[in-house]
Amino acid sequence: MQPPKFTEQAQEVLAASQEIVRRYRHSQWDVEHILLALLEQEGGVTAEILEELGVDIEPVRGKVEQALTRTPPVAYEGKQIYPTPRIEGVFRAAASEAERFNDEFIGSEHLFIAIAGEWGGESAKILKEFGIDEEKIYGALQKIRGGQRITDPRAESKYRALEKYSRDLTELAKQGKLDPVIGREEEIKRVMGARAGIVRAPWCGKEECGKAIEEKTNGSVLGEEPNQKRTKGNCSVCSKPAKTSILIARTY
Ligand SMILES: [Zn+2]
Repeated sequence: MQPPKFTEQAQEVLAASQEIVRRYRHSQWDVEHILLALLEQEGGVTAEILEELGVDIEPVRGKVEQALTRTPPVAYEGKQIYPTPRIEGVFRAAASEAERFNDEFIGSEHLFIAIAGEWGGESAKILKEFGIDEEKIYGALQKIRGGQRITDPRAESKYRALEKYSRDLTELAKQGKLDPVIGREEEIKRVMGARAGIVRAPWCGKEECGKAIEEKTNGSVLGEEPNQKRTKGNCSVCSKPAKTSILIARTY
């Protein structure tokens, strides 16, 4: 079975969070950048969750911005942005949450839960100040999603629109999920072994090469490496000189 990829919404959030790193001229990509991106996403599931919980989004956003301002900007631009170990931890936790929900994709809500549940994390502390924790988010999601599972990378935008999810037996059979015992074993193994991170690969800039890298790594393209002037080496697919690096988020 394949490890889960990110939904389109989650990919947008991760890409936007890197924009935020640039906006603050930080050199490290951290959990607070992702939380701010979640809060800033128009029509995103995070906004829906806060609405369901009756929490005003603006003061939460303000607190996260304050926290980000405390990290001093780097003196010059053009440096690579490095993910912190906390980011990896949150990806791992988000992948586990997707498993727990029996979702096939990692969505924004799994990132949000993972951030809220990060032990000792600054973002988790901010959320707790507003009374938001993992349990509250689960409760809100129950109302927003009902029994729907994420089986498609565009799932979040369909929560409200779709009829209640009905299991497609053919699809389940194809995925080998019909045997409950085997299914559970696989699930446990995947949760225990769920890992995630960022892969960067030299890239010529051609879309087909990007697709090939995405396929090869079984990940989700986040975009080009921000703040990077020139990548040395050759495209990892076609071997032409690389223009930049492509960033892929993946679980494994
Ligand atoms: Zn290429």
